[in-house]
Amino acid sequence: AYAVQKKPEWLQVRPAGDHKSVAEYRRLYRAVRDLNLHTVCEEARCPNIGECWGGGTATIMLMGDTCTRGCRFCSIKTSRSPPPLDPAEPENVSSTISRWGLRYVVLTSVDRDDLTDGGAAHIASTVKLLKQRVPSILVETLTPDFGGSTSAVHTVVESGVDVFAHNIETVERLQHVVRDRRAGYKQSLYVLEQAKAHPQRGKEIVTKSSIMLGVGETRAEVKQSMMDLLNAGVQILTLGQYLRPSRKNMKVEEWIHPDEFEEWKHEGEKLGFLYVASGPLVRSSYRAGEFFIESLFR
Ligand code: SF4
Ligand code: SF4
Repeated sequence: AYAVQKKPEWLQVRPAGDHKSVAEYRRLYRAVRDLNLHTVCEEARCPNIGECWGGGTATIMLMGDTCTRGCRFCSIKTSRSPPPLDPAEPENVSSTISRWGLRYVVLTSVDRDDLTDGGAAHIASTVKLLKQRVPSILVETLTPDFGGSTSAVHTVVESGVDVFAHNIETVERLQHVVRDRRAGYKQSLYVLEQAKAHPQRGKEIVTKSSIMLGVGETRAEVKQSMMDLLNAGVQILTLGQYLRPSRKNMKVEEWIHPDEFEEWKHEGEKLGFLYVASGPLVRSSYRAGEFFIESLFR
């Protein structure tokens, strides 16, 4: 799916997992077949699936496969009026995940600008039901911006979610080149800030964001974005290479060398992030469970 532009050699090989993680991957793989669950990991043919599933992390997509927005880097279908939400989804998804045996689950979704609350209540009820069934599971929600609605953000925060993630995707200057026009840099920072500002749960919740590199940003702009995220209270940052999913999507402007990703990891942690995951194939949810658990015990 990624072979649209020629990739540098460091993107053509995958590290092998150890025996324990391979066994865990196989177990989850069989469970997905049996439970008929849809994961972003499989549907996006994510190259990290062995490592993530091997470590007990997976990403589930809520609210359908059609987005009301059309970001230039994203290959998801777009429609002004996607089908209505499935009211049974929170129940079904939570019961399926509870039988799957994950340690860490990322719940993400398309953007639903057609819904009054952007789907916040739907996401929140999935988290609540899941936490009731499996109190030990760690849950991350990777949410839309809800048009900058504080009450929608707080609905999600109040669900009992452990990690609140929302991606700014790129530096300020390139927002309109990369993301849908309804998204925006300040709006996304505001959303992250509001999660952290929640009167009861703000302190315990961990916030997280992600920047794609290779879309035409400068180093100075990346550093500025890191500082803006830190000012918004963001604690975990992921940085990865943009890979063009199809010819309809924007081109890759630059292939960032693995050494530069490594430098960003050190720079970010020096600036004050609790944890930075940075590498060509790192995605927002990349081995999220392991990194989250590790960052807590530093
Ligand atoms: Fe799944 Fe995200 Fe890991 Fe890819 S990076 S395998 S989508 S959890
Ligand atoms: Fe893709 Fe999210 Fe943009 Fe929708 S809002 S087009 S799902 S990146």
